[in-house]
Order: sequence, then C-alpha cells, then structure tokens
Amino acid sequence: MSDYQPVLLLFIFMLPVLYMMDTSLVILRRNPTHIENRLASLTTALLALMIICQYIQQLLPMEHTLLISVYLVYPISLAAACLSVLLHFRVTSSFHRMSMALCSVLSFSPLSIYLLLLLFKGPSFYFIGIRVEGPWKQPDYVTGFFVVIVLFLFISICNIGLCLAARKRSTTVLLRKRYTVLFKANLYYHFATFFVLLLIAMLSSYIYIDVSFVGIASVIWSFSIRHFMKYDVLPSVKKKFELLYHLSPTAILMLDRHMLLKEANPGAVRLLGYQNEAELKNKALLDFIVEADRLNVKNDYVATFPLQKWRNYEVSIRNRGGKQRLILMDTERITEGEEGFVLAVIRDITQQKEEERLIHFLAHHDTLTNLPNRYHFTKELENSLLAVREKKSLLGVMLIDLDRFKLINDTLGHQYGDEALVEVAKRLLNSVSKSHLLARLGGDEFIILIKDASEYDEIVSLAENIHQIFQLPITLQGQDFYLGGSIGISVHPFDDDTPNGLIKRADIAMYNAKHSGGNQYRLYTDEMIALVQRDVRLEKNLRKALELGEFVLYYQPQVDLASGRLIGAEALIRWNSAELGMVQPGEFITLAEQTGLINEIGQWVIAEACEQGRLWQERGWNDFMLSVNVSSRQFMQPDFVNKVEETLRSSGLEPGRLCLEITESMVVNNLNVARKMLDELVALGIHIAIDDFGTGYSSLSVLRQLPIAIIKIDRSFIMDMNAYESGLSIVKTIVSMGHDLQKQVVAEGVETLDQLEQLKQLGCDKAQGYYYHKPLPLQEFNKLLIDR
Ligand code: C2E
Ligand code: MG
Ligand code: MG
Repeated sequence: MSDYQPVLLLFIFMLPVLYMMDTSLVILRRNPTHIENRLASLTTALLALMIICQYIQQLLPMEHTLLISVYLVYPISLAAACLSVLLHFRVTSSFHRMSMALCSVLSFSPLSIYLLLLLFKGPSFYFIGIRVEGPWKQPDYVTGFFVVIVLFLFISICNIGLCLAARKRSTTVLLRKRYTVLFKANLYYHFATFFVLLLIAMLSSYIYIDVSFVGIASVIWSFSIRHFMKYDVLPSVKKKFELLYHLSPTAILMLDRHMLLKEANPGAVRLLGYQNEAELKNKALLDFIVEADRLNVKNDYVATFPLQKWRNYEVSIRNRGGKQRLILMDTERITEGEEGFVLAVIRDITQQKEEERLIHFLAHHDTLTNLPNRYHFTKELENSLLAVREKKSLLGVMLIDLDRFKLINDTLGHQYGDEALVEVAKRLLNSVSKSHLLARLGGDEFIILIKDASEYDEIVSLAENIHQIFQLPITLQGQDFYLGGSIGISVHPFDDDTPNGLIKRADIAMYNAKHSGGNQYRLYTDEMIALVQRDVRLEKNLRKALELGEFVLYYQPQVDLASGRLIGAEALIRWNSAELGMVQPGEFITLAEQTGLINEIGQWVIAEACEQGRLWQERGWNDFMLSVNVSSRQFMQPDFVNKVEETLRSSGLEPGRLCLEITESMVVNNLNVARKMLDELVALGIHIAIDDFGTGYSSLSVLRQLPIAIIKIDRSFIMDMNAYESGLSIVKTIVSMGHDLQKQVVAEGVETLDQLEQLKQLGCDKAQGYYYHKPLPLQEFNKLLIDR
C-alpha cells in the first residue's frame, strides 16, 4: 500500500487543483481588467493553493504537518473566504453605499482575528498534535479551533446575507436570477465547508474524518462560480453600460443647468461633427440648435430643469460642418442636489424622416410624371366629396385616355412612350388650375378632380381646354404625333356620390367618347351604360364570329360622275351575328381594333373582296375597281404588304383593280414607315385612297409625299355643301387641290340630286352614296351588274 500511496494522493489532490486553476484562468480571461473578475479569480486560485498545501502536508514528515496547517492551510483558506466576502460586497455594490476601503476592512477582519490569535496565543491555541490514520495525517484540534469555525460561519452569513439583500432589491428578472445563483453557490459551498469543519472539530477525537472534504467544498465553489458566470455578473452590468455608451451609434450627452456639454460619447461627437470629446467640452448645446428653434428649446429647458424629462423631443440641429440634422431627444435628470445634470439620449432621424417622406411620396405619386397617383386621387376625392356635400357645390371627375398612345409605344419603343406621357402630363398640368387635382391613373390614363365648381359650364369649359391640348402634335424623334384624347366626365351630385361611382361613370363616358371615334369629350348619361353592356356582348361574340362565318361583305356602287357609269364598288363589312342580329361596322370595328381581332377580320375582308373581284374580272367587267378599307392596326402589321401580295396572287385578281382605303391619321403618326409600305403596295400595282379626307390632320405636305391616287371627301363635307356658304368652298378647294396634285377625287355620301349636280360642276371624278345605292348584299349587287 505504501508504494502507491504518493501516486494515489497526487491523484486525489491534483484533480481539484487543476480544475480550480482552470476556473481561475477562465474567470480572469473573461474580463481581465474587471475588479470582480480579478477577485473571483484570486479566490479560486487561493483555494487551489490551499489544497496544494494540504497535499504537501501529507508528503512531508510528521513534524511539519502542524506548522503547515496553522501557517498555510488555514490562513490561506480564510484569506480566500475573506476575498469572497469582498467579491460579494463588490457584486452587490449598487445596493449599499459602503466605500471599497470599508468593505475591505470588514471582509478581512476574520483573517486578522485568526492571525492575531496565532501571534499572541501560538499554534497550540488551535492544534495540539497530529493524528495519523492509514495514509492520512491531520492536526488534532482543541477547543480554540471553534474560533476558526465561528469565523467561517461569520463569512458564510455575510455572503449569503449580501446575496439575499441584493436579490430582494433587484429590479429586473435577470438581476434577480443572478443573485439567486450566487446565493445557491454560497449556500452549497459554505454548507459543505462548515459541515466538514464542524464534523472534524467535534468528532476528530473519536473517529477519523478526512480533511480533504474541505477540498471538495472548494471544488463546489469553483463549479458554482463557473455556473454563475453564465449569468454574467462578473463582467458586470456596468461594463455593459460602458460598452453601450462607447459603441452605440446613439448620441449620449451630459448637460448641466446651462445646457453646456459636460460629457459626450463617441456617437455624440460624431453627430456634432467633432473629432473628440475634449473639443466639445463646455460647448453650449443651444449653439447647435437651428436658430428658429433655439429660443423655444432654451425656454423649455429652463422651465423644466432640473426635473428634466423630455420624450421624443424633435428639433433640428446644425453640426460643425453646417449640415442640418433632425434629431429626437430623450432626457432624464441623473444626479440629485442643486448641481443637477441631465442625460440626453439623441437619435439622428434625418435619414429616417427623408425615407418616410420618400415612401409617402412614392405611395402617393407616379414616378414617371411625378403626378399624384390613383391612391392619392381616390383619397382626395373622398375628402372633397365630404367637403362638397356640405357646400352643395358641384364636383367633377374628368378621365382622359390617350387615343393613339399604343402606336408610339409599338413603333418607337417605351422610352418615347414615356416621353410622350411626360409631355402630356406637362400640358395637362398647365391647363388645370391650382384648385384642381391632376393625377395619373396608370398607363395612358389621366384623371382630373374638379373641386367645388359653382356651375356646370365651368367643368365643360375645362373639358374644352383639355380637348384643345390634344390638337397640337407631340414631337418625338423629329416626328409629329397626333395622339388625341378621349375625355369622359362625371359630376357629383347628378351622376353619383361615391368616389368609385364617379370614377366608374367618368370611365363609361370616356369609353363612349372613344367609341365615337375618340379625341372628344363626353358628359356621362345613364344611357351610356347600355353601350358598354352592348360592347361587352359584342366582344364576347366577336371572337367567334370569324369561325362561325358570320361576316359578309356588302358592296356600295361607285359611279363615274361624267358618264354616270358604274365603275366600281366599295366593299363594306357586315356582321350577321346569330345572337345580335345584323351589326354595322361602326359598332364593332373599333372594338376589333382594340382587341386586335381586326388583323384576322381585315385579312378575311381582303381575301373575300379579291375573290369576288376575280369573279367579276372573269365575267369581263373590265373597268371596275374594288375598294377595301384597311384599319390602322391592320396596316401597321410588319408583314401587311406580304399578306396583300400573297392574297392577290392566290386569288388571281389583277392588282390594278384593287384599291386600299387608308385614313390620314394612320399615316401622319408614322410617316416614314407608312411611306415605305405604301410605295411597296403601289409597286405591286395597287391603288391607294385616302378615306374620310378632311376629318383628320390634313396636311398638304403629307399628301404630296405619299403615293396616293385617290382622295375620298368625307361625307360630312358633302352634307354641309348646301347648308353653308363655306361648305361648298371647302369641297371646291379639296377637288381643285386634289386635281392639282394629280389625284382622283371621290365624293362620299351623296344623297341628293343637288349634291350630285354641284359635284359634277366642281369637276369631281366619282361619287358614291345613297342617292345611287346603299351598300348592297352580293346578290343584289350582281343583279345591278346584270341590269347594267
Ligand atoms: P367608310 O369607309 O367611310 O365607308 C362609308 C360609310 O358611309 C359606309 O358605312 C356607308 O354605308 C356609308 N355611306 C355611304 N353612302 C352614304 C350616304 O349617302 N349616306 C349615309 N348616311 N351614309 C353613307 P358603313 O358601311 O357603316 O361603314 C362605316 C365605316 O366602317 C367605314 O367608313 C369604314 O371606315 C369602316 N369599315 C367598313 N367596312 C370595313 C372593313 O372591311 N374594314 C375596315 N377596316 N373598316 C371598315
Ligand atoms: Mg371607306
Ligand atoms: Mg369614308
């Protein structure tokens, strides 16, 4: 047994020593500069040292055992215990007002008592001899040893008392938790130590009790203190506040009664545009506050000092560089007494405010035109409706939809589409007064809120002004575009009294304006709803019409005015719908254009007309010309020319017998592309006619540039010819101008003999109209041919 005795002892003693040394280092490393960590670390290290002494005691010859106990083991363990009291005083320092010196004196009094007794009474006061039991040696105690026990008891009570008092006064859950843990650590440790010592003192003369139980108590201490560290008492709460103070982006200032800066954290130094705290010392915070607010802030401050308590006090400051910042200040008095100080916590909310403003702007505005958006408009409309209800005045909603906007987008690209929208927005803004609200609803739709109009005419005259701005072209890439605008108007209280209802009705009126050819304004009437409903039905059926073969062509004869002979016909489409009956083109062509169905329908018309033309060609009707209407969307297809060529070829109709009717508006907006396509069509041998001449944006220079063979004077001019003096002269001008340009002139809509005679006199070449014939179904037209 004696062979392995030193090894066994080493094992028994060194394991706790290692664990405690490690604990000591861990605590220190956690925060080396902090006094609490240092104390805890030292305490643990002393306990480890005590165990080492105990080990040495076991190894050395008998005569040293007593001396080691009395001069090393007990003083060291008492010193550790005293240090632990000091640690508790520190940890709980926020709850008592004792100075560090007083705490130290109190803490180390047990050790002093022990040492004094040792000095005056000698070691035999505690021990008289040595007792050996198996491999163990230990001093034999006498009654004086109870002094040591009482000292330890005193220390235990101190520590536990401090923990409990601090726990009771803790204001936060976290703090309470910490002191609970510390309390438990103490309880276990002191209980173990005290219990072992008591046993030793009382029973050592009867039975042997291993002194290394004290070592076990020390291990309990180390273990507890490690656990305790999880609750972060050692790197103390104060440390946290220090970190916060130094690292926080928030500016923290300490001010005196005159608002002079006494302390400033780095955040504050930065905010005010300085390099370090020293430069700021004793500067007046008022000097940073913008002049306009200065007096108010000063009065507020003086009035409330020292019971300073501002919450979210918003004020603008100007920093050293002259940059203006918006700040939010919270203040709180931090010291009592006459010379009070105020702690100010300042947040820079400049960017936040700017972002809020931007978000608000974005939520309420359209980014392209910077006009208010739909959301903002609806909100304003809601408010205005409330206001107007009391005043009993009128409120108008005017919805504007651009007519040919898509054309720009499709031919020039979205960038130019955007440019056009910005231009339109600018013009609209110039035509509305400040009291109105102009907004962009989205796409090519704008809307105006006419607040508080005293009479109907006010709304109508604004509509006229708006209509006028669309008569001027918009120049994009050197080209003039005539956009045209369809305007719908609804008026409160006549049409509706809800925001959505008013917008919806303005929309219906706008739809109506568009349906009637666009570029005009319409005031809402209840009958308009029927039109929308019919259009919905039309659209539903139109999609199937081609498949069902519901389209037919009618032919309106064209007559040579000089000879009176039938020299051709215009093919006009009709839709013989199973569900809706016979539908005129005026009702469905626009719809077909809007839905894109016009491409297929138009192609069908050309094919059908060519087929029919070939039959007449075979029958030997030699001098006839068949006219076919082409819509703008159909014409703008990139492969339009190819399609026509292919159709002509497969039908076998001579190109010279086909005339395609286009309108002015189709070409003015895209002159270069149109000219190229028309040239190609003419090169095939086809004739081109300008339909409804005079109603569009007639420009002589345009006419001259295009390879047009025929001008068709619009029916409205023929109608007006006898009604006004000027009516006749307009027709006369068109005829002579057409002839000057070497073009044939055809009169549309001739209904009376009078008109016919006058046209003959003016030298007009051809005519068509009800005077001769209405558009005829094929059979009737054929009969007419036979009669001829
Ligand atoms: P448009 O090309 O100007 O055709 C002449 C219109 O005037 C025809 O109306 C015709 O019936 C009408 N009309 C002719 N003479 C008289 C008259 O003496 N008095 C009156 N009051 N009206 C007369 P319709 O057939 O209703 O066609 C209307 C428009 O629909 C056409 O005007 C044309 O722009 C378009 N359209 C007709 N068929 C087609 C087609 O196949 N394709 C395309 N894209 N458009 C077509
Ligand atoms: Mg026509
Ligand atoms: Mg016409």
